[in-house]
Amino acid sequence: MRFNSLANAGPVLALITAAAMFLGVQTDSRAEVSAMEPQTVLITGANRGLGLEFARQYKDAGWRVIGTARDPQDAQELKALGVRVMQLDVASQDSVAALAAQLDDEPIDLLINNAGIFPRVGKLDEIDFDDYNRTLAVNTVGPVRVTRALLPNLRAGKLKIIAGLSSNLGSIAENERGNFYGYRESKAALNMFTKTLAAELGPEGFTCIVLTPGWVQTDMGGPNATLTPEESIAGMKAVLDRLTPADNGTFWSYNGGQMPW
Ligand code: NAP
Repeated sequence: MRFNSLANAGPVLALITAAAMFLGVQTDSRAEVSAMEPQTVLITGANRGLGLEFARQYKDAGWRVIGTARDPQDAQELKALGVRVMQLDVASQDSVAALAAQLDDEPIDLLINNAGIFPRVGKLDEIDFDDYNRTLAVNTVGPVRVTRALLPNLRAGKLKIIAGLSSNLGSIAENERGNFYGYRESKAALNMFTKTLAAELGPEGFTCIVLTPGWVQTDMGGPNATLTPEESIAGMKAVLDRLTPADNGTFWSYNGGQMPW
């Protein structure tokens, strides 16, 4: 059963709450949790593009926002939002370990593994293997590394949501046209990691998902992309807002539809 808000959860939620109170059980529906206290989101690669817009929209919604940047000194727009800015290079084990150490056991409700790179490689013989390895290191190993390091924080959080920024290009089912070696593999592997993680952490109440933002006007998407960051993030945030544990291990479009793996 899916509740979009306390308002439309209405009588059913009241009944469940009353029954739980009668039984002495503490209820923790996500709608109730959000209504009670500010939640904490950590967004990687938040100094520009989609990460910056995620930070802006979560800040506007009253969340505690931790935005990471490889170079916090240069993250002027992120700092101007009044969010907490922390250093993180997702491809560096030392950097990830330092972030985890600074956060100690602070609860994090929602982790958004957003940082990514996109080398434009068309044909097989165009692959540069240094770039190829770098793409996997940032887009696939990065989220794995960050998720593992922050798992104690996520376990201490109430919502327990881990979201990865995938892509339509990461869908094996949708790959009719080829191209984009390295990037496609990196996002397909992120998808597989997410399904595996969902199986491991689901029993603890985690919801692990991947999202595709659509084609968005950022440095990565370029000026001809069909969506603005505001539109894409509003759509993905709406998906995240209404997730329940029943959605564990799913792949979403920014528009609220399910993506084929
Ligand atoms: P973007 O404008 O190029 O921004 C990428 C962000 O990732 C920047 O903040 C960048 O930081 C950060 N980053 C890169 N390498 C990093 C590393 N090693 N450690 C930490 N941060 C790193 O890209 P975007 O369009 O916002 O994309 C965000 C996510 O959405 C990516 O995962 C991307 O694959 C995915 N996506 C985007 C589109 C689209 O159309 N835009 C479509 C599908 C999927 P620096 O400023 O330090 O480089």
